[in-house]
Amino acid sequence: MSKPSHIWTDVDYEKSGKQVGWLHLPHSVTRSAYGTLMIPIAVIANGRGPTAFFMAGNHGDEYEGQIALAKLIRSLEPGEIQGRVIILPAANLPAALDSARVSPIDQGNLNRSFPGDPDAGPTLQIAHYIDSVLFPKAALFHDFHSGGTSLDYIPFASIHEGDDAAVNAKGLAALRAFGAPLSVVWRSHRDLRFSPLAAMKHGIPALGGEFGGAGRVARSGIDLVSRGARRLLAHLGIMPPDGNAAPAPTRLVSIPSQDYFVYAPEPGLFEPAVELGDVVKPGQLCGEVHFVDNPGRAPVPCSFKAAGFVICKRHLGRVERGDCVAHLAIDTPD
Ligand SMILES: [Zn+2]
Repeated sequence: MSKPSHIWTDVDYEKSGKQVGWLHLPHSVTRSAYGTLMIPIAVIANGRGPTAFFMAGNHGDEYEGQIALAKLIRSLEPGEIQGRVIILPAANLPAALDSARVSPIDQGNLNRSFPGDPDAGPTLQIAHYIDSVLFPKAALFHDFHSGGTSLDYIPFASIHEGDDAAVNAKGLAALRAFGAPLSVVWRSHRDLRFSPLAAMKHGIPALGGEFGGAGRVARSGIDLVSRGARRLLAHLGIMPPDGNAAPAPTRLVSIPSQDYFVYAPEPGLFEPAVELGDVVKPGQLCGEVHFVDNPGRAPVPCSFKAAGFVICKRHLGRVERGDCVAHLAIDTPD
């Protein structure tokens, strides 16, 4: 049994109608002895039916999901649904307000913090509340990401492959229902500190996805989240199917292992040799690290270890040794 959370809320999860309120995370500091971090949450409910739980702002510098879910909060009316939709559009609020991946308060990366700890810093407390209070209410979870400041992505929705075949199958059906042009199955890790894998431990299908990147706001990513979220609600029976919003067939791809990632071998300036979408072979040049402070030194190359197409590229020019500079995905037979 999990320890109780110190977070309290002014929303009533069992009430019908639309409530836009806050999670209050006690945060006692010099300028505010009894202060709380007020993390926005919306509960939209009507009648009997399943609960969908949508989240964004897990990483604060990933914006499409944050904007799309705020729009959904304003536009979705209880009369349109049968069931409940819980929306947490800026989950790691301090990071979202700082346009940063991690919280400026405790340097916490929410997506490496599950199942959390109610007695630790704010980021672990948020993870614990999601894990112990919100996941048990949900029939489906979707966490909307983008590449953040450092990475750029071809937009996609995704699932993580876990150990439970029934949950994996439900996740794949939901991924197809979401209907992104590109859908990814992550097979490269099973780190239970990630939100989707933490949700799947509760037996619920969990989707993710990268809907943009490079610290910008992509209109196409916002549209994809907005349309896909409503298609997911229809998939769950919470909304009637919308004939106008039927998804196109998706291209299903996977990221099989760590071999599909490339890392900077040295600190310096990275010159990429490929663009997003390029099809590459094993041994093909990914890019070179240049040493502008020592121009006589030859650049150090790094190469792809596997075949695939470039789904992710580093956005920032300067690299430290060990920074991910690109990764691949491969087509997955149905
Ligand atoms: Zn993210």
